Amino acid sequence: MTTTLENARQTILSRISTAERTAGRSAGAVSLLAVSKTFPASAVRELYLAGQYAFGENYVQELVAKSDALADLPGLIWHFIGPLQSNKTRAVAERAHWVHSIDRLKIAERLSSQRPTHLPSLNVCLQVNVSGEASKSGCQPEDAVSLAAEIAELPRLTLRGLMCIPEPTDDLQRLRQQFISLRQLFEQLQKAGYPLDTLSMGMSADLELAIAEGATLVRVGTAIFGARSQHP
Ligand SMILES: *Cc1c(COP(=O)(O)O)cnc(C)c1O
Repeated sequence: MTTTLENARQTILSRISTAERTAGRSAGAVSLLAVSKTFPASAVRELYLAGQYAFGENYVQELVAKSDALADLPGLIWHFIGPLQSNKTRAVAERAHWVHSIDRLKIAERLSSQRPTHLPSLNVCLQVNVSGEASKSGCQPEDAVSLAAEIAELPRLTLRGLMCIPEPTDDLQRLRQQFISLRQLFEQLQKAGYPLDTLSMGMSADLELAIAEGATLVRVGTAIFGARSQHP
């Protein structure tokens, strides 16, 4: 019997394959990160049993609680995608497999030094503020190259790519331009010799546009789990 969550995931997987085809990209070029923030461990378990292994969390407390509750599931991969304060890095270094929201060196240094030696190095993406809004997190595009160089030197991190959260807008051209900016920066870093393979962009509402502009991973919450109530 398929469940509502499983059906919603299948619908997203179809949207992803259609978008890959439409964009002339190879099948399987884009992976799905299921963003489970605010939803219970039981929902994550249900999707895991349906074959979804990668989950995204925004809040450290939730990452801790759910990774504990689901420690019995082999191959479950946790991506931390939310803003990260320096006093909370240890729990993330100990539990996450990926962090997408690195926007300053201090956080990267702490994650590297706190990553337990029995675990493989932590995969990280640099979050870039491509919208130019002052309030947004992410490093400035002009600082991304030097920050990438510093992060690539850290022993317990592996720099995998770039992430952005575009400014919410109904203006598709404006949205597309933000995805293009991130992709151009990604290609610039690849040309400079960084072996990057992850372009983390696109969410429930705009994953087709992000895939058309080169996303390799889309982060989807609402379209799988439903609307979120306010975080407590
Ligand atoms: C919540 C969140 C998402 C998922 O957004 P939806 O619109 O619910 O798909 C993706 N990325 C980040 C960084 C988020 O915080």
